[in-house]
Amino acid sequence: YDDRDGKIWMDGTLVDWRDANVHILTHAMHYASSVFEGERAYNGKIFKSREHSERLLVSGKLIDMDIPWTVDQIEAAKEETLKANGLTDAYVRAVAWRGAGEDMGVASAKNPVRLAVAVWEWGAYYGDAKMKGAKLDIAQWKRPSPETIPTAAKAAGLYMICTISKHAAEAKGCSDALFMDYRGYVAEATGANVFFVKDGEVHTPIPDAILNGITRQTIIAMLKEKGVVVHERHIMPEEMADFEQCFLTGTAAEVTPVGQIGDYTFEVGALTRDVSESYERLVRA
Ligand code: PMP
Repeated sequence: YDDRDGKIWMDGTLVDWRDANVHILTHAMHYASSVFEGERAYNGKIFKSREHSERLLVSGKLIDMDIPWTVDQIEAAKEETLKANGLTDAYVRAVAWRGAGEDMGVASAKNPVRLAVAVWEWGAYYGDAKMKGAKLDIAQWKRPSPETIPTAAKAAGLYMICTISKHAAEAKGCSDALFMDYRGYVAEATGANVFFVKDGEVHTPIPDAILNGITRQTIIAMLKEKGVVVHERHIMPEEMADFEQCFLTGTAAEVTPVGQIGDYTFEVGALTRDVSESYERLVRA
C-alpha cells in the first residue's frame, strides 16, 4: 500500500502517498498508542461519518490521548481526502497516534498527537462469502476484560491478538476467527460483530467486552423496525449448535453471512439475505 499515487491527509495538509511517513521512534509503534477508524463512502458520502469521527475522539480519550482536532475538522479532512483522490466509493481510514518527540519511554505527554486520513478502494472484505457464507475458525485467544484494557476503544493494542488469530484462521483455510471473551462468552470476529438467528429471532452478544460496532447498532435498529425480536445477551459457544443462521456486521464486512464456525454450521437463510440487502440499500440511500 505504500508505493502508489494518491494523497494522504497528515496533520492538516495533503501529502503525496509515498511521502506519508513517520519516524522510527514514533511512540505508537513501540507502545501501541494509536486509535483508528474504518469507514466506507458510498456514492460520495461516508456512511455514519460523524459517528465515526466522534468514536475516534472517544477512543483517544479512553487511551488518555487528546486528539487536537474537532469532529468538524475531522469531517472536513475526510471530505478533502476523498476529493483529492477522486474517489466516491472507498474505505476511509482515520488514525491518530502519539508521534516521535522528547519522550521515548512509556510516558509520552510531551510528544505530539498526530492525525492522518487515508482513503482507498476496497471491495468485499470476505470475498465471495456474501453468497456462500464465510468459514470461521475459533480463535485461541480471548477478548480481554474491560478491567484489563479499554475494550470500548478502537485502539491498536486490541488488534494484536486479531492479527495472530486471523493468520491462524487463514492457515486453516478460514476467512476469519471468532473470539470468545475472557468469561467464555461468544464475543466478536477480528474486525466485525456477530449475530445469530433462531426461530425468526436474532441473538447477539452484549457489547460489554467488545466493540459496539456502528454497523451493529445500525442493524439492531433495522431489525427492530422490521419487527424482528433482537436479544442482546451473553451467548455460550455451545449454543451455536442450535442457531440456524449467522452473520457478521462491520464497516468493511458490511453484512456477511457465515456458513461455518469451527464445527458448527449455518444456512445462508432468508433473514440474513434480507438484512444484507436492506443494509446495501441503506448505505446508498
Ligand atoms: N469489532 C471489531 C474488533 C472491529 O474491528 C470492528 C470494525 N471496526 C467491528 C467490531 C465493527 O465495527 P463497525 O461496525 O463500527 O465497523
